[in-house]
Amino acid sequence: MKTINCREAGFDCDVIVKGESEEEVLQNGMEHAKRDHNMKEEDITPEMKEKIKSIIRSS
Ligand SMILES: [Zn+2]
Repeated sequence: MKTINCREAGFDCDVIVKGESEEEVLQNGMEHAKRDHNMKEEDITPEMKEKIKSIIRSS
């Protein structure tokens, strides 16, 4: 199981995004950011994805 702590991604948010793989948790994180943080597709830059990847935890 892979998780992303949304707060570590820079949001004031306690959601823990989960996925079975790095790919899936990233995808779920993007969906969460769009749905709950009003992020648009174009706001999600390659740099942001790299940052998010760096805070993915495995459990
Ligand atoms: Zn969040």
